[in-house]
Amino acid sequence: MCAIERCEPNGGSGGRSGHLTMSKGCRVVVTGAGGFIGHHLVTYLKRRGHWVRGVDIKYPEYEPTAADEFELLDLRRWANCLQAARGVDECYNLAANMGGIGFITSFKAAVMHDNVLINVHMLEAARVHGVGKFLFTSSACVYPGYRQQTPDVRPLREEDAYPADPEDGYGWEKLFSERQCAHYAEEYGMSTYAVRFHNIYGPLGTYDGGREKSPAAICRKIALAEREDTIEVWGDGQQTRSYCYIDDCVEGVYRLMQSDYHQPLNLGSDRMVTVNDLVDIVAGIAGKRIGKRYDLSRPQGVRGRNSDNTLLRRVLGWEPQVSLEEGLEITYRWISEQLLRSGRLKKEVVR
Ligand code: NAD
Repeated sequence: MCAIERCEPNGGSGGRSGHLTMSKGCRVVVTGAGGFIGHHLVTYLKRRGHWVRGVDIKYPEYEPTAADEFELLDLRRWANCLQAARGVDECYNLAANMGGIGFITSFKAAVMHDNVLINVHMLEAARVHGVGKFLFTSSACVYPGYRQQTPDVRPLREEDAYPADPEDGYGWEKLFSERQCAHYAEEYGMSTYAVRFHNIYGPLGTYDGGREKSPAAICRKIALAEREDTIEVWGDGQQTRSYCYIDDCVEGVYRLMQSDYHQPLNLGSDRMVTVNDLVDIVAGIAGKRIGKRYDLSRPQGVRGRNSDNTLLRRVLGWEPQVSLEEGLEITYRWISEQLLRSGRLKKEVVR
């Protein structure tokens, strides 16, 4: 059973909020624990003294898991979800068939099929087992296209998700699963949580192969570029986004699970930059003069997107702390190291 403790913000490392109560010694399952955020979350939960079961269809790619046990299960299958959710106090449900904009726009049917099955089955399995808390990881892709048509968009508030016009595939499934969590809370009294991530990035994330997101793809391209090279940018580079570093993501998720807030909540940075800015920041970190070659035929997603963190600050008494420059520096160095190890990069060029 979980115990409650008083602790410092950000695990004692300082921050902008006051003391919080945090649970300790819970039995927790993290699905998607072989993936980017799930793997970091397992490490974080272990540091906080919880017993953790990781579940995924694959092991983490870049380092061993910190989980107490790790089960390889296909969570599209009901029996496997029942197995995954057995004997735990809390479920952090992160498993999803997903990737960057190129991936989710190319495989809509498979993405919706897999994610509906995973989320519907995991939520029901958690109910059957009487799991105390259930977290659903939603996305900024639930926000309507009509609010994201210009680069200088107004930051998205949680209530902006309706009238609905989400990303056509991945986004619709996320919105549906948010609704399903809300109805399980209403009808079965379950304690459900839904967090809307806005572009999470950092080390130990996919940086190649088609599922990677823009920060990782840009770091890879710049690491592989010569000192005065040109890289391909999807779209005209004027599209805007905000990017949240992984340490802030897992901290925010954990804080949400300690709260009594059960409506969908944004978790992202509210510093909006263009993709061109992102390239320039990474080029600066790499110490290279990088030109841009725009490919307008590539998918770009919405024209502009930013997170409104008013509710996040109010609910969690906290907001993301890591600057884009700091986070990208760590990410760029990690991706360069991976490329060096794999022999694709001959000699790291980092200032
Ligand atoms: P990820 O792809 O790295 O991790 C997802 C994991 O789910 C993978 O390890 C994958 O193997 C696993 N998975 C897929 N199908 C499965 C199945 N049938 N059974 C068991 N496991 C399965 O993605 P991530 O970035 O770590 O995302 C975690 C969650 O956060 C997802 O729900 C995602 O939709 C959501 N999210 C992420 C971002 C982001 O910026 N990374 C943004 C919005 C929402």
